[in-house]
Amino acid sequence: MVATVIVGMLCVHLLCFGGMFLLIGARLQGRKLGMDAFAVGNLLLGTAYVLQLLGGPPGWNLMGVVNHTLTLCAPAVYWVGAMRFFDRPAPLWRPLITLALAYSALQVLVQWTLGPVARYAMLSGLSALAFLAMVVTVIYGVRTFARHLRVEMVLFAVLISGICALNAAKFVNILSGGLEALDMSNRFQMVFYIYMSFLATVLAPSVIWLVLRRLTDDLRAMAARDPLTQLLNRRGLTEGLEAHFRSRNAGPAHLFVVDIDHFKRINDTWGHEVGDTVLCHVADVLRETARKGDLASRVGGEEFVIVCRDTDSGGAMRLAERVRSAIERHGVPIGGGREPIRCTATIGVSHGFATAHGFDRAMQQADAALYHGKAAGRNRVVQSADTDSTPAATQANGSTSTA
Ligand code: GH3
Ligand code: MG
Ligand code: MG
Repeated sequence: MVATVIVGMLCVHLLCFGGMFLLIGARLQGRKLGMDAFAVGNLLLGTAYVLQLLGGPPGWNLMGVVNHTLTLCAPAVYWVGAMRFFDRPAPLWRPLITLALAYSALQVLVQWTLGPVARYAMLSGLSALAFLAMVVTVIYGVRTFARHLRVEMVLFAVLISGICALNAAKFVNILSGGLEALDMSNRFQMVFYIYMSFLATVLAPSVIWLVLRRLTDDLRAMAARDPLTQLLNRRGLTEGLEAHFRSRNAGPAHLFVVDIDHFKRINDTWGHEVGDTVLCHVADVLRETARKGDLASRVGGEEFVIVCRDTDSGGAMRLAERVRSAIERHGVPIGGGREPIRCTATIGVSHGFATAHGFDRAMQQADAALYHGKAAGRNRVVQSADTDSTPAATQANGSTSTA
């Protein structure tokens, strides 16, 4: 009686969370993060336990065959869900139907040749192997694609190891004790069902937590990045700066504003799409030229800001000059058998600043220097000379002059 109640509760859990996974997957539309597969897994396992309750003691009938097939397919489907959660392409329906048909046929074969004990032992043995494969995948994930979810993954590995061990023990019990070992009221079966209920209760909210965490991480990243170039946007830049100045050993930062010269002309001559290609190209140049730890951002139409951390004025000027000459040197391929477009940029460099509040002032300095650079003929790096923003200019060819 108690075992029946536990298995009944297990069915309710699996089917309800299966329904919830389906709803969440439908909300996520294109990118379902494996929720559709987790839903199918829960529905398969929940249905298998319903059939067990309806079917009564172990025996050879259609309900029993379907029950075993669903029970074995469920871990395989969970595995597909996990792969999809980590953006690994994993097909679901065709392999699932193939597995279901193959395992049903195998059951018939084993029942006829080796008898019912072998059929039940086969289910437990193969389930143990399926869960073992999941544990191995999770451990592999902790070391590779799921490093950022180490705590959650280790918890999953421990929990799944438990059900793997219980299935292995059940396999041994069936081989040594025959079908009596499957009596729902014996102590081992009780432990098995309680553990399954525990697992269904803990794992389902954990999966929802992972999806929530993934979505909020994605949202935060989207809010901090410019969608066209994938550089930081102004908000991402401010957050990066605040994080930098919060650290105890933070040194002063310098920033420079990079503005593409005559960009409107590029748009007018080649079209907006080519203009976008040029923006992406300049973004690539900034990414490649900036040092590790520098913050590269796009703050306006064709304006970019680089914040150089822990450097002096000379270091910032050298980096700005490298950026300017890289933009000038590399033509932008635009396809269609056309010549690459050449473009240049003018760069205004600020003084050092040591707090996030100093950022606004540094932006004003860099903007003023940029303005002088444009007036002086463009394609040059100009440093703000003093706090009054009277700039001294470093020309494109590297010589320095006062504006
Ligand atoms: P200057 O050398 O003085 O900087 O001249 P400019 O033409 O580069 O500057 P201006 O401010 O006159 O023009 C900037 C142009 O950038 C105008 C606008 O249409 C274009 N723009 C802004 N955002 C985007 C964008 O996302 N994509 C494209 N293709 N063009 C953009
Ligand atoms: Mg501009
Ligand atoms: Mg411009």
